[in-house]
Amino acid sequence: MLKISQLHKSYPIGDSSLHVLKGIDLSVEDGEMVAIMGSSGSGKSTLLNIIGMLDEADEGEYILDGLPIKDLTEKKAAVYRNKFLGFIFQSFNLINYKTALENVALPLYYQGMKRKQRQELAMFHLEKVGLAGWAQHLPKELSGGQNQRVAIARALAANPKLLLADEPTGALDTKTSYEIMEFIQQLNDEGKTILMVTHEEDIANMCKRIVRLRDGVIMEDKKVKQVRAEQYV
Ligand code: ADP
Ligand code: MG
Repeated sequence: MLKISQLHKSYPIGDSSLHVLKGIDLSVEDGEMVAIMGSSGSGKSTLLNIIGMLDEADEGEYILDGLPIKDLTEKKAAVYRNKFLGFIFQSFNLINYKTALENVALPLYYQGMKRKQRQELAMFHLEKVGLAGWAQHLPKELSGGQNQRVAIARALAANPKLLLADEPTGALDTKTSYEIMEFIQQLNDEGKTILMVTHEEDIANMCKRIVRLRDGVIMEDKKVKQVRAEQYV
């Protein structure tokens, strides 16, 4: 699915710079479910954003689905992002004046899909996350867990090969977190490749592999026995 070699990233701060990623090597195969862990500021989001083509590395190689990701035009990058990647964020990142259905349909609009087809497909994905009855509601009328499910439906609408999640349970209470994890585990059971940033051990243990970042390097990368979320919900 993806292969990263000797990836480096720095951010300028004043006259100097902050070296955030210091030679990351990471390969992820199809069907994996990987947690990226590390303390705050360890570079987790930076790495995920580079993998998600929202940001670019300074040095190193990144190959996504056989395609070298380097020096792409913004237009090409957007096409690949739409085709390969789905995103989920801690704060949901839904558009607050659009309904659940419209939020889910938005990536399909960017793919140039016709309105009727867009709405049907968006509805299909809302049903999948158990929110068919909430299609016409705005984000402010939904709970945090419901909004995250809308965001998951939106991430899945364009059928991405890889689902990227940055602290997807970070804004949710424990029970709701486990419900979301149960759902994400089901997606992985169905074959979706998932890469998720978290700083919570219990959430990481619901993945199949844990990669630990510290001071910009991977200090540990191991497979784990997946804890199933359904036993807690
Ligand atoms: P994490 O997600 O592990 O908490 P981040 O990847 O967000 O860490 O950030 C790593 C370091 O890089 C932090 O010290 C952060 O302040 C810094 N950083 C992140 N993004 C930027 C940016 N756009 N400009 C400058 N510094 C940044
Ligand atoms: Mg972060």
